[in-house]
Amino acid sequence: MFGAESHGVELTVDPADVERLLNVEPVDVSAAPELTFARNVFVPLTTACRYTCTYCTYYDVPGEASLLSPEEIERICERGAEAGCTEALFTFGDDPDDRYTEIYDELDALGHDSIHSYLREACEIALECGLLPHSNPGDQTRDQMELVADLNASMGVMLETTADVTAHGGPRAKNPGQRIATIATAGELDVPFTTGILVGIGETARDRAESLLAIAELHDRYDHIQEIIVQPVVENERWRGGSPDIETMRRTTAMARVALPEDVSIQSPPNLAPVEELLDCGIDDLGGVSPVTDDHINPEYKWPALRELERIAERADVPLSERLPVYDRYLTPEWLSPRIRAAIDADDDAGRRYRALL
Ligand code: SF4
Repeated sequence: MFGAESHGVELTVDPADVERLLNVEPVDVSAAPELTFARNVFVPLTTACRYTCTYCTYYDVPGEASLLSPEEIERICERGAEAGCTEALFTFGDDPDDRYTEIYDELDALGHDSIHSYLREACEIALECGLLPHSNPGDQTRDQMELVADLNASMGVMLETTADVTAHGGPRAKNPGQRIATIATAGELDVPFTTGILVGIGETARDRAESLLAIAELHDRYDHIQEIIVQPVVENERWRGGSPDIETMRRTTAMARVALPEDVSIQSPPNLAPVEELLDCGIDDLGGVSPVTDDHINPEYKWPALRELERIAERADVPLSERLPVYDRYLTPEWLSPRIRAAIDADDDAGRRYRALL
Protein backbone atom coordinates (compact mmCIF):
# COMPACT_ATOMS: atom_id res chain seq x y z
CA MET A 1 0.00 0.00 0.00
CA PHE A 2 2.83 2.46 0.66
CA GLY A 3 4.78 2.45 -2.52
CA ALA A 4 8.28 1.11 -2.59
CA GLU A 5 9.13 0.91 1.11
CA SER A 6 7.20 0.62 4.35
CA HIS A 7 10.08 1.98 6.50
CA GLY A 8 9.33 -0.57 9.17
CA VAL A 9 5.76 0.50 10.00
CA GLU A 10 3.24 -2.22 9.22
CA LEU A 11 -0.38 -1.17 8.90
CA THR A 12 -3.30 -3.51 8.43
CA VAL A 13 -5.95 -1.44 6.70
CA ASP A 14 -8.96 -3.71 6.27
CA PRO A 15 -10.24 -3.85 2.64
CA ALA A 16 -13.81 -3.96 4.00
CA ASP A 17 -13.21 -0.62 5.78
CA VAL A 18 -11.92 0.81 2.51
CA GLU A 19 -15.11 -0.28 0.75
CA ARG A 20 -17.25 1.22 3.53
CA LEU A 21 -15.40 4.52 3.31
CA LEU A 22 -15.72 4.64 -0.45
CA ASN A 23 -19.50 4.54 -0.02
CA VAL A 24 -19.61 7.51 2.37
CA GLU A 25 -21.47 10.58 1.10
CA PRO A 26 -21.83 14.06 2.57
CA VAL A 27 -25.35 13.23 3.70
CA ASP A 28 -23.85 10.63 6.06
CA VAL A 29 -22.13 13.28 8.22
CA SER A 30 -23.26 16.40 10.04
CA ALA A 31 -22.04 19.97 10.06
CA ALA A 32 -19.89 20.72 13.10
CA PRO A 33 -21.52 22.81 15.87
CA GLU A 34 -18.58 25.24 15.94
CA LEU A 35 -15.51 26.29 13.98
CA THR A 36 -12.03 27.00 15.25
CA PHE A 37 -8.85 28.59 13.90
CA ALA A 38 -5.37 29.44 15.13
CA ARG A 39 -3.54 32.74 14.65
CA ASN A 40 -0.04 32.12 13.39
CA VAL A 41 2.97 33.49 11.59
CA PHE A 42 4.67 31.52 8.85
CA VAL A 43 8.39 31.18 9.42
CA PRO A 44 9.86 29.56 6.28
CA LEU A 45 13.08 28.40 7.91
CA THR A 46 14.50 26.97 4.70
CA THR A 47 13.21 26.54 1.16
CA ALA A 48 15.79 23.83 0.45
CA CYS A 49 14.21 20.43 -0.13
CA ARG A 50 15.59 17.06 -1.13
CA TYR A 51 12.45 16.33 -3.19
CA THR A 52 10.95 17.84 -6.32
CA CYS A 53 7.17 17.33 -6.10
CA THR A 54 5.66 18.61 -9.33
CA TYR A 55 2.85 20.59 -7.62
CA CYS A 56 5.11 22.42 -5.19
CA THR A 57 6.23 26.04 -5.46
CA TYR A 58 7.75 26.05 -1.98
CA TYR A 59 11.12 24.53 -2.69
CA ASP A 60 14.01 26.32 -4.35
CA VAL A 61 16.74 24.52 -6.24
CA PRO A 62 20.33 24.39 -4.95
CA GLY A 63 21.94 27.80 -5.28
CA GLU A 64 18.60 29.60 -4.88
CA ALA A 65 17.32 28.18 -1.61
CA SER A 66 17.07 30.42 1.43
CA LEU A 67 17.77 30.00 5.11
CA LEU A 68 16.34 32.59 7.48
CA SER A 69 18.87 34.21 9.78
CA PRO A 70 18.23 34.28 13.55
CA GLU A 71 17.53 38.02 13.22
CA GLU A 72 14.92 37.42 10.50
CA ILE A 73 13.26 34.71 12.61
CA GLU A 74 13.15 37.06 15.56
CA ARG A 75 11.65 39.89 13.48
CA ILE A 76 8.87 37.68 12.10
CA CYS A 77 8.08 36.26 15.53
CA GLU A 78 8.04 39.67 17.20
CA ARG A 79 5.62 40.98 14.56
CA GLY A 80 3.44 37.91 15.09
CA ALA A 81 3.35 38.27 18.86
CA GLU A 82 2.53 41.98 18.51
CA ALA A 83 -0.36 41.07 16.19
CA GLY A 84 -1.75 38.69 18.82
CA CYS A 85 -0.61 35.41 17.26
CA THR A 86 0.08 32.36 19.40
CA GLU A 87 1.82 30.08 16.89
CA ALA A 88 5.13 30.17 15.03
CA LEU A 89 4.62 27.80 12.10
CA PHE A 90 8.07 26.65 11.01
CA THR A 91 7.85 25.44 7.44
CA PHE A 92 10.55 23.47 5.66
CA GLY A 93 11.46 21.61 2.59
CA ASP A 94 12.44 18.08 3.52
CA ASP A 95 15.88 17.61 5.05
CA PRO A 96 18.11 19.37 2.47
CA ASP A 97 20.41 16.83 0.83
CA ASP A 98 24.10 17.38 0.14
CA ARG A 99 23.45 19.27 -3.11
CA TYR A 100 22.61 22.28 -0.94
CA THR A 101 26.18 23.12 -0.06
CA GLU A 102 25.39 26.81 0.50
CA ILE A 103 22.73 25.93 3.08
CA TYR A 104 25.22 23.78 4.98
CA ASP A 105 27.83 26.54 4.76
CA GLU A 106 25.32 28.98 6.24
CA LEU A 107 24.35 26.50 8.97
CA ASP A 108 28.02 25.95 9.73
CA ALA A 109 28.60 29.70 10.02
CA LEU A 110 25.71 29.81 12.50
CA GLY A 111 27.31 27.01 14.54
CA HIS A 112 24.99 24.22 13.44
CA ASP A 113 25.70 20.92 11.73
CA SER A 114 22.10 20.15 10.76
CA ILE A 115 18.86 21.89 9.95
CA HIS A 116 17.24 20.29 13.00
CA SER A 117 19.90 21.69 15.28
CA TYR A 118 19.11 25.12 13.84
CA LEU A 119 15.38 24.49 14.18
CA ARG A 120 15.96 24.02 17.91
CA GLU A 121 17.51 27.50 18.09
CA ALA A 122 14.64 28.89 16.01
CA CYS A 123 12.07 27.38 18.40
CA GLU A 124 13.90 28.99 21.33
CA ILE A 125 13.66 32.36 19.56
CA ALA A 126 9.92 31.88 18.97
CA LEU A 127 9.30 31.00 22.62
CA GLU A 128 11.32 34.02 23.75
CA CYS A 129 9.21 36.24 21.48
CA GLY A 130 5.98 34.84 22.94
CA LEU A 131 4.89 32.27 20.35
CA LEU A 132 4.39 28.51 20.63
CA PRO A 133 6.33 26.62 17.94
CA HIS A 134 4.56 24.21 15.60
CA SER A 135 7.17 22.75 13.25
CA ASN A 136 6.48 20.98 9.99
CA PRO A 137 9.94 19.81 8.87
CA GLY A 138 8.89 17.06 6.46
CA ASP A 139 10.11 13.52 7.03
CA GLN A 140 12.03 13.09 10.26
CA THR A 141 14.04 10.34 11.86
CA ARG A 142 13.49 9.58 15.52
CA ASP A 143 16.75 11.35 16.42
CA GLN A 144 15.75 14.47 14.49
CA MET A 145 12.31 14.65 16.07
CA GLU A 146 13.67 14.01 19.57
CA LEU A 147 16.05 16.92 19.12
CA VAL A 148 13.21 19.45 18.77
CA ALA A 149 10.05 17.84 20.20
CA ASP A 150 10.29 19.40 23.67
CA LEU A 151 10.30 22.91 22.18
CA ASN A 152 7.17 22.34 20.08
CA ALA A 153 3.58 22.59 21.26
CA SER A 154 2.71 20.26 18.39
CA MET A 155 4.27 19.19 15.10
CA GLY A 156 3.05 18.04 11.72
CA VAL A 157 3.62 16.66 8.27
CA MET A 158 1.16 16.08 5.45
CA LEU A 159 0.88 12.41 4.57
CA GLU A 160 -0.64 13.59 1.26
CA THR A 161 -1.27 10.06 0.00
CA THR A 162 -0.18 6.50 0.60
CA ALA A 163 -0.13 5.94 -3.16
CA ASP A 164 2.87 6.14 -5.43
CA VAL A 165 1.94 9.04 -7.71
CA THR A 166 4.00 10.48 -10.52
CA ALA A 167 3.63 13.94 -8.94
CA HIS A 168 6.07 12.71 -6.26
CA GLY A 169 8.34 11.36 -8.96
CA GLY A 170 11.48 12.51 -10.63
CA PRO A 171 15.00 11.66 -9.61
CA ARG A 172 14.31 12.27 -5.92
CA ALA A 173 10.83 10.88 -5.22
CA LYS A 174 9.10 11.34 -1.90
CA ASN A 175 8.18 8.00 -0.36
CA PRO A 176 4.79 7.65 1.38
CA GLY A 177 6.21 4.95 3.67
CA GLN A 178 8.64 7.46 5.09
CA ARG A 179 5.79 9.85 5.86
CA ILE A 180 3.95 7.04 7.64
CA ALA A 181 7.11 6.33 9.63
CA THR A 182 7.39 10.01 10.63
CA ILE A 183 3.77 10.06 11.83
CA ALA A 184 4.40 6.85 13.79
CA THR A 185 7.54 8.32 15.34
CA ALA A 186 5.53 11.30 16.56
CA GLY A 187 3.17 8.85 18.23
CA GLU A 188 6.04 7.00 19.90
CA LEU A 189 7.39 10.31 21.22
CA ASP A 190 3.96 11.57 22.43
CA VAL A 191 3.97 14.56 20.07
CA PRO A 192 0.49 15.99 19.31
CA PHE A 193 0.43 15.85 15.55
CA THR A 194 -1.24 17.41 12.52
CA THR A 195 -1.35 15.58 9.21
CA GLY A 196 -3.58 15.42 6.18
CA ILE A 197 -4.16 14.41 2.63
CA LEU A 198 -3.57 16.34 -0.57
CA VAL A 199 -6.37 15.75 -3.06
CA GLY A 200 -5.91 15.78 -6.83
CA ILE A 201 -2.27 14.80 -7.33
CA GLY A 202 -3.04 11.66 -9.30
CA GLU A 203 -4.40 9.48 -6.51
CA THR A 204 -7.70 7.59 -6.81
CA ALA A 205 -10.68 7.68 -4.46
CA ARG A 206 -9.51 4.31 -3.14
CA ASP A 207 -6.08 5.77 -2.43
CA ARG A 208 -7.74 8.58 -0.49
CA ALA A 209 -9.76 6.09 1.55
CA GLU A 210 -6.63 4.04 2.25
CA SER A 211 -4.67 7.15 3.23
CA LEU A 212 -7.35 8.26 5.71
CA LEU A 213 -7.58 4.76 7.18
CA ALA A 214 -3.80 4.61 7.52
CA ILE A 215 -3.89 7.84 9.54
CA ALA A 216 -6.82 6.46 11.57
CA GLU A 217 -4.86 3.30 12.35
CA LEU A 218 -1.85 5.30 13.52
CA HIS A 219 -4.12 7.44 15.68
CA ASP A 220 -5.73 4.31 17.10
CA ARG A 221 -2.26 3.11 18.02
CA TYR A 222 -0.92 6.34 19.57
CA ASP A 223 -3.89 8.73 20.11
CA HIS A 224 -1.75 11.61 18.85
CA ILE A 225 -3.49 12.99 15.75
CA GLN A 226 -5.10 16.30 16.69
CA GLU A 227 -6.36 17.26 13.23
CA ILE A 228 -6.44 16.17 9.61
CA ILE A 229 -6.19 18.67 6.79
CA VAL A 230 -8.15 17.86 3.63
CA GLN A 231 -6.40 20.05 1.09
CA PRO A 232 -6.99 20.35 -2.64
CA VAL A 233 -3.99 20.76 -4.91
CA VAL A 234 -4.13 24.15 -6.65
CA GLU A 235 -2.65 25.49 -9.87
CA ASN A 236 0.60 27.40 -9.63
CA GLU A 237 3.71 28.06 -11.65
CA ARG A 238 4.78 24.39 -11.37
CA TRP A 239 1.37 22.64 -11.40
CA ARG A 240 -1.01 22.91 -14.31
CA GLY A 241 -2.95 19.77 -13.50
CA GLY A 242 -6.01 21.57 -12.14
CA SER A 243 -7.81 21.14 -8.82
CA PRO A 244 -10.27 18.45 -7.74
CA ASP A 245 -13.93 19.29 -8.37
CA ILE A 246 -16.28 20.21 -5.59
CA GLU A 247 -17.96 16.79 -5.45
CA THR A 248 -14.59 15.12 -4.95
CA MET A 249 -13.76 17.53 -2.14
CA ARG A 250 -17.16 17.04 -0.52
CA ARG A 251 -16.94 13.25 -0.58
CA THR A 252 -13.34 13.24 0.58
CA THR A 253 -14.08 15.59 3.47
CA ALA A 254 -17.01 13.43 4.53
CA MET A 255 -14.78 10.35 4.26
CA ALA A 256 -12.25 12.00 6.56
CA ARG A 257 -14.99 12.78 9.09
CA VAL A 258 -16.16 9.17 9.10
CA ALA A 259 -12.65 7.67 9.15
CA LEU A 260 -11.46 9.53 12.25
CA PRO A 261 -12.99 9.74 15.73
CA GLU A 262 -14.94 12.89 16.56
CA ASP A 263 -12.18 14.33 18.74
CA VAL A 264 -9.85 14.56 15.73
CA SER A 265 -10.58 17.83 13.94
CA ILE A 266 -11.12 17.98 10.20
CA GLN A 267 -9.52 21.10 8.80
CA SER A 268 -10.18 22.86 5.52
CA PRO A 269 -7.81 25.69 4.52
CA PRO A 270 -10.00 28.64 3.47
CA ASN A 271 -7.41 30.15 1.11
CA LEU A 272 -7.30 26.92 -0.94
CA ALA A 273 -10.60 25.09 -0.53
CA PRO A 274 -14.23 26.18 -1.12
CA VAL A 275 -14.84 26.03 2.61
CA GLU A 276 -18.44 27.19 2.59
CA GLU A 277 -19.41 24.34 0.29
CA LEU A 278 -17.72 21.88 2.65
CA LEU A 279 -19.16 22.99 5.97
CA ASP A 280 -21.90 20.35 5.92
CA CYS A 281 -19.28 17.64 5.27
CA GLY A 282 -17.92 17.74 8.81
CA ILE A 283 -15.10 20.29 8.88
CA ASP A 284 -14.68 21.97 12.24
CA ASP A 285 -11.42 23.88 11.84
CA LEU A 286 -10.21 26.56 9.46
CA GLY A 287 -6.53 26.09 10.18
CA GLY A 288 -3.84 28.58 10.89
CA VAL A 289 -4.60 32.10 9.78
CA SER A 290 -1.84 34.64 9.59
CA PRO A 291 -2.53 38.32 10.09
CA VAL A 292 1.08 39.25 9.23
CA THR A 293 2.71 36.74 6.86
CA ASP A 294 1.74 35.11 3.58
CA ASP A 295 1.07 31.42 3.13
CA HIS A 296 4.58 30.68 1.85
CA ILE A 297 3.55 27.23 0.66
CA ASN A 298 0.80 28.67 -1.55
CA PRO A 299 1.90 32.30 -2.01
CA GLU A 300 -0.55 33.01 -4.85
CA TYR A 301 -3.45 32.18 -2.54
CA LYS A 302 -3.83 34.93 0.07
CA TRP A 303 -5.14 34.07 3.49
CA PRO A 304 -8.59 35.49 4.06
CA ALA A 305 -8.76 38.20 6.65
CA LEU A 306 -9.93 37.18 10.06
CA ARG A 307 -13.14 39.10 9.33
CA GLU A 308 -13.80 36.74 6.44
CA LEU A 309 -13.53 33.75 8.78
CA GLU A 310 -16.08 35.40 11.02
CA ARG A 311 -18.36 35.88 8.03
CA ILE A 312 -18.02 32.19 7.12
CA ALA A 313 -19.03 31.23 10.66
CA GLU A 314 -21.87 33.76 10.71
CA ARG A 315 -23.31 32.47 7.46
CA ALA A 316 -23.08 28.92 8.82
CA ASP A 317 -24.69 30.16 12.04
CA VAL A 318 -22.04 28.55 14.25
CA PRO A 319 -19.64 30.13 16.74
CA LEU A 320 -16.03 30.73 15.73
CA SER A 321 -13.32 30.48 18.34
CA GLU A 322 -9.57 30.83 18.33
CA ARG A 323 -7.45 27.94 19.59
CA LEU A 324 -3.83 27.28 20.42
CA PRO A 325 -1.58 25.32 18.02
CA VAL A 326 -2.02 22.40 20.41
CA TYR A 327 -5.56 21.19 20.98
CA ASP A 328 -6.97 21.36 24.51
CA ARG A 329 -7.07 17.62 25.11
CA TYR A 330 -3.27 17.46 24.76
CA LEU A 331 -2.62 20.03 27.50
CA THR A 332 -1.50 17.32 29.91
CA PRO A 333 1.91 16.29 31.28
CA GLU A 334 1.85 13.20 29.06
CA TRP A 335 1.78 15.33 25.92
CA LEU A 336 3.29 18.71 26.77
CA SER A 337 6.94 19.15 27.66
CA PRO A 338 7.75 21.10 30.84
CA ARG A 339 9.09 23.92 28.65
CA ILE A 340 5.85 24.36 26.69
CA ARG A 341 3.76 23.96 29.85
CA ALA A 342 5.84 26.68 31.53
CA ALA A 343 5.31 29.02 28.56
CA ILE A 344 1.54 28.53 28.78
CA ASP A 345 1.51 28.98 32.57
CA ALA A 346 3.88 31.97 32.61
CA ASP A 347 2.80 35.18 34.30
CA ASP A 348 3.64 37.34 31.28
CA ASP A 349 1.85 38.74 28.22
CA ALA A 350 2.39 35.60 26.14
CA GLY A 351 1.18 33.28 28.91
CA ARG A 352 -1.92 35.41 29.39
CA ARG A 353 -2.55 35.40 25.62
CA TYR A 354 -2.29 31.59 25.54
CA ARG A 355 -4.49 31.02 28.58
CA ALA A 356 -7.16 33.38 27.28
CA LEU A 357 -7.87 30.77 24.58
CA LEU A 358 -8.34 27.82 26.96
S1 SF4 B 1 5.83 19.33 -1.31
FE1 SF4 B 1 7.27 19.29 0.41
S2 SF4 B 1 8.55 17.50 -0.02
FE2 SF4 B 1 7.56 18.05 -1.98
S3 SF4 B 1 9.03 19.43 -2.97
FE3 SF4 B 1 7.59 20.69 -1.80
S4 SF4 B 1 8.60 21.09 0.15
FE4 SF4 B 1 9.61 19.33 -0.82
